[in-house]
Amino acid sequence: MRHRGVIVGLTLIAALVWTPVQEAVAEQSRVRLITTGGTISNRPGGRLSAVELLASVPDLEDLLEAEPEEFANIPSSALTLDQWLQLARRINQVFQTDPALAGIVVTSGTDTLEELAYFLHLTVRHARPVVVVGAMRRPGALGYDGAANLRQALRVAGDAESPGRGVLVVFNNEINSAREVTKTDALHLQAFQSRNNGALGATARDRVIYYRRLDRRHTTTTEFDIERISRLPRVEIVMAYQGASGDLIRTAVDRGADGVVIAGAGAGSTSAGQRDAIAYASEKGVSVVMTSRTGGGRIAPQRVSTEPEESPATRAESRRPRRIAGEDLAPVKARVLLMLALTVSDDRDVIQRMFSEY
Ligand code: GLU
Repeated sequence: MRHRGVIVGLTLIAALVWTPVQEAVAEQSRVRLITTGGTISNRPGGRLSAVELLASVPDLEDLLEAEPEEFANIPSSALTLDQWLQLARRINQVFQTDPALAGIVVTSGTDTLEELAYFLHLTVRHARPVVVVGAMRRPGALGYDGAANLRQALRVAGDAESPGRGVLVVFNNEINSAREVTKTDALHLQAFQSRNNGALGATARDRVIYYRRLDRRHTTTTEFDIERISRLPRVEIVMAYQGASGDLIRTAVDRGADGVVIAGAGAGSTSAGQRDAIAYASEKGVSVVMTSRTGGGRIAPQRVSTEPEESPATRAESRRPRRIAGEDLAPVKARVLLMLALTVSDDRDVIQRMFSEY
């Protein structure tokens, strides 16, 4: 009995001594902040630098080690597609040359943030997290959300559960996939949502929590090689609406578009004029992807059947000009995927395969 008491006592002392030693040697995650601009840094009288942005995050040193890098300091709509290519290359280079870096946070203006995030999702080739973040209110405004969003984004980028999930978008304590997230409000703080499937996770007070995993190709399994792309193909987006003439589609084709994404009504319908214009685009070898302007739902690939017993509906569908189905991608995301797909192939079936896999 006396021996048991001594052993329990020694174990307790060892535990007390051991715990602080463990914490002292535990390495903090190191995260790179790469800034591109946007409202998060758009302080009246002078934009915040990457260093100033980090300084706006309270108690950052207790959380992780963050290193600033300024890529640009402009609104998201002012970033060119060439800058997208440069940014993706830069992120790949940082991961390659710094194997101990936990993750990267990228700031962006919110207006086209979802497009940039999806582009990075398809072109960064590393499992470590890239987290895209921004703010709805400017520095100095009452309720500036930039510092809070940035703090959560840095936590997510430094978290051991984040690798392998593709590019993430963090706003208002929610973690969304770059593939699914969309800006749903022009002004509200809660402006980013994944309408079809909901968020991937959340940044809770005690820990970063994931609820699900994205079951699609991205990052480490992407087939798009950014090193071999010097210019992105031209892809335009045209919306379907009552009585639309189809002239915008024809003009896009005549002006040299390589692809056209249609933001169709409902599950992908267009006006009669647009239907003729899509046939014109197909004749000219221009890829046409059908998406929905509704903000939700999925466009399924067209059925192609030559069976004599096919239903009248199937017969009618297979007579329509063959379009690529955009699946559940928003029109702006479908454009990003089509631009990258066209760097690999202009074959309709190959591109349709990509839309079902990414
Ligand atoms: N909301 C704007 C954007 O998406 C930000 C404007 C700015 O940075 O001045 O970029």
